Amino acid sequence: MKNQPWRAKSACRGLDPTIFYPATEEEDEAEAAKAVCAVCPVQAECLEYALGFREKEGVWGGATERERRRIIRQRRRAAYAAAARRSA
Ligand code: SF4
Repeated sequence: MKNQPWRAKSACRGLDPTIFYPATEEEDEAEAAKAVCAVCPVQAECLEYALGFREKEGVWGGATERERRRIIRQRRRAAYAAAARRSA
């Protein structure tokens, strides 16, 4: 994480990191973190980083762990469907 150049522009820089690690995955628990992510100029980079490294905990790029798992599943399904169309 330290060598990610986008990190220098993050809206969460210097904030209490505990808000990005809510105790549960309940939507209201993640609200504070998501509000910061919503105005973060590097949200897309952060989300892709978390997806790529399969970050297991916390809010990254405005997405909770559950939401990131959903994104990964959707992308996997889309890739399979595209591959199936190419081979048909
Ligand atoms: S998207 Fe959220 S967690 Fe990621 S760098 Fe920005 S504020 Fe931090």
